[in-house]
Amino acid sequence: MKQVHNFNAGPCVLPKEAINNAIEALKDFAGTGMSVIEVSHRSKEWQAVMDETEALWKEILNIPDGYKVLFLGGGASLQFLMVAMNFLEKKAAYLETGVWAKKALKEAKGIGEAVCVASSADTTFNYIPKGYTIPTDADYFHITTNNTIYGTEIHEDITSPIPLIADMSSDIMSRPVDVSKYVMIYGGAQKNVGPAGVTFVIVKEDALGKVSRYLPTMLNYKTHIENGSMFNTPPVFSILVMNETLKWVKRCGGLKAIQKINKEKADLLYNEIDRNPMFVGTAEKESRSVMNICFVMAEGYKDKEDAFMAFAKENGMVGIKGHRSVGGFRASLYNACPIDSVKALVECMQKFEKLHK
Ligand SMILES: *Cc1c(COP(=O)(O)O)cnc(C)c1O
Repeated sequence: MKQVHNFNAGPCVLPKEAINNAIEALKDFAGTGMSVIEVSHRSKEWQAVMDETEALWKEILNIPDGYKVLFLGGGASLQFLMVAMNFLEKKAAYLETGVWAKKALKEAKGIGEAVCVASSADTTFNYIPKGYTIPTDADYFHITTNNTIYGTEIHEDITSPIPLIADMSSDIMSRPVDVSKYVMIYGGAQKNVGPAGVTFVIVKEDALGKVSRYLPTMLNYKTHIENGSMFNTPPVFSILVMNETLKWVKRCGGLKAIQKINKEKADLLYNEIDRNPMFVGTAEKESRSVMNICFVMAEGYKDKEDAFMAFAKENGMVGIKGHRSVGGFRASLYNACPIDSVKALVECMQKFEKLHK
């Protein structure tokens, strides 16, 4: 197989071991003589995977009692709507830190009153706003902890006077999280915990049931809690790969160990961006994401963008094109991205500097 350095933003690189174990289960699942995609989701073998996957989430993220972990369809994008339907009674408050945050706010506005507490839209979302006031009369405060497109991140669990809800699609499992500070955490799996097709929802049970509107069965978190995420047929293969990915996280030593290596990887690349006169980072330094690292050609080298892209490609780099709204480059250093890939990218930038400066 061709060796590449995969910096895709999502779907993205996953642990090789997780993929290989999933391939085995695709052939013969738990000794059943059938593929995991052929067995009944009501079988005891499958139920064991569901139970183990929820237990792995609880163990690795240290999720307190009173929370449920759900595995749903529809992506983080459907959660934008479900959050508002299940939690918005009078008013909701949102922090607008990027396109995903904007989309979440838009869905809430379709359901009821939703206000934007602060926004960094003025500078293409290159920082996390500070010094804002969370309205205490709102039902919840919604944040996007990592802004995948712009490479900014809320690094600490903030303290909110009202229930806190977070889209953690692109930094879940990258660091320890104090789950007790949130009533709900959700995200699409395809950035750090598995393939597309499954959405994780960590929800505090007693925070539910406070809205008066009719909730359609499939859009009601209680339906999925009562049915162990199997009200309808679950995306078994995606959940299985997620299960294997979480086991890999455990083998790596858990979230403290993962955070340390993630920090090391990000520092390597940011240090090169700051040192190399040909490149410049786009996010404000204190808002810089550990997961998605965005940079452009520096003043005086703008005409070299295509040349660097071609050079990086020749050297095995994949997925480093920046999002069209930011331009330049974006390297996503999710958990499964090996430090050797980051070293290879840094080397590539240094070689390019020698060739062109
Ligand atoms: C990718 C992403 C989404 C969208 O996820 P889907 O599962 O494709 O709907 C939402 N929020 C953030 C922060 C993302 O990175």
